[in-house]
Amino acid sequence: METEQKIHTFIWKVLHNGLAVYGNLTKFNTHISNICSLCNSEEETVQHLLFSCQFSKAVFQASPLHIDIPMDTSSMDIIQFWLSQTDQNANKWQAPPPYHIKINVDAAYLDGKGAATAVAIDSSGRHLGSEAFCFDSFSSMVA
Ligand SMILES: [Zn+2]
Repeated sequence: METEQKIHTFIWKVLHNGLAVYGNLTKFNTHISNICSLCNSEEETVQHLLFSCQFSKAVFQASPLHIDIPMDTSSMDIIQFWLSQTDQNANKWQAPPPYHIKINVDAAYLDGKGAATAVAIDSSGRHLGSEAFCFDSFSSMVA
């Protein structure tokens, strides 16, 4: 499978516990909490933040791959599954036709917290702008 170098680097950091999650940061700074900033219920390890936290599980469920991560699944198993699925479903982003702008939007919401983002690209693939925001409460006014 052909993946970008930054993806290889990220996977290496996941597998070698090299991400700056709170559980790792407290090894160097004891004045910060090691609790997950999303769920506030467990230590924020790489495994928890990416695969076990209820928020990350919701993101995987809502993704086009609809990944349901069983409890106690290793990071290596999840990455191998993701790579096999991505390889099978490789659908590359396509630029809009000339004189058109493509705006991709996405959002996630769970238990009163959410995030939304939008990215605008023109027909030459030039980034025109983007915006992202997080919210702590949800109402029909936000939608
Ligand atoms: Zn969590």
